[in-house]
Amino acid sequence: MRILITGGAGFIGSALTRQLISHTDHEVLVFDKLTYAGLLSSLEVVASSSRYNFVQADICDAEAVAEVLAGFRPEVVAHLAAESHVDRSIDGPADFVQTNLVGTFVMLNQTLGYWRTLSDADRAAFRFHHISTDEVFGSLGDDGFFTETSPYDPRSPYSASKAGSDHLARAWLHTYGLPVLVTNCSNNYGPYHFPEKLIPLIIVRALNGEQLPVYGDGSNVRDWLFVDDHARALQAVFERGEPGQTYNVGGNAERKNIEVVKTVCSILDRLQPRADGKPYANQIVFVTDRPGHDHRYAIDASKIRADLGWSPSVTFEEGVARTVAWYLENRTWWQDILDARYATQRLGVAHG
Ligand code: NAD
Repeated sequence: MRILITGGAGFIGSALTRQLISHTDHEVLVFDKLTYAGLLSSLEVVASSSRYNFVQADICDAEAVAEVLAGFRPEVVAHLAAESHVDRSIDGPADFVQTNLVGTFVMLNQTLGYWRTLSDADRAAFRFHHISTDEVFGSLGDDGFFTETSPYDPRSPYSASKAGSDHLARAWLHTYGLPVLVTNCSNNYGPYHFPEKLIPLIIVRALNGEQLPVYGDGSNVRDWLFVDDHARALQAVFERGEPGQTYNVGGNAERKNIEVVKTVCSILDRLQPRADGKPYANQIVFVTDRPGHDHRYAIDASKIRADLGWSPSVTFEEGVARTVAWYLENRTWWQDILDARYATQRLGVAHG
């Protein structure tokens, strides 16, 4: 299949691209603006493949989107491009409204125009896969799980913009018949994660001898999913999922933020002990909580398991160990980011 991946130079999009090029025969075109979060260094390992293509452009640019659709003639559009960092959405929501809402509208509208030019058989086989987050469902108490029918209750500019984009995607299905699928996923982690997000931030700061900031008392709970497991779920959905369906994707690994930080610290203690022999956990500090910080997210992923046979393959402890090992072995990847001072104002603040 020919698969157009928007945001394919980001954390999850690059994992999906690496997987499709390395483990399938699919041809991929990455369509990415290369914002601060888009990194060609995350795609280096597949860049020489004849099945890999790259276009640098903005999803809000209707002409550029139309040109790529007409030239590449995808059978699947996997739409991941987004502004994705909650803290940044609090500081500057405008980019989130522009890319996540206007950009998704442009992608849907241009894809609809392209889809209408296809033969009946190609129209039936085509998929527009909109990739979203569990944050659209708001905050849970100590019990319960988000399901595909949970009501939307977004609370940050990021989650509100993603919620709106989910509604747009479903509107293009119901109103115009575009074969849309939606997935809502929990917190991803793994190699090539931009070091402003919690797990890589902690690894990098620990190694640099800096304080490890944890919001509030660290009791906020997230469900954690290894990024390569998410990439496998996305592939299962656009290959075998039913248009019109939504699938929740989760790692079945709920952890408090403080537990996550302590797990990273203890793995580092084992793999790269501090020169003074003391535990990395000594560097933990608690900082003022994020405004509107959702208490708990947890996903019921039984539908994708039952319908598509997908389940996470990596436990949280194993995934974090692999992630820490990757950051130790690939210092140049993240050191280049720190050296380039990519909008560093947020690199000192933890993200749950
Ligand atoms: P990311 O921030 O790492 O990557 C986003 C990518 O989109 C970057 O390559 C960036 O250059 C590109 N991009 C941004 N604006 C663009 C524009 N206007 N035009 C073209 N490209 C643009 O994000 P991620 O963590 O890989 O998340 C990917 C998707 O998955 C997002 O839609 C996000 O909402 C969703 N999601 C993420 C998580 C998570 O834990 N990271 C969880 C659930 C859902």
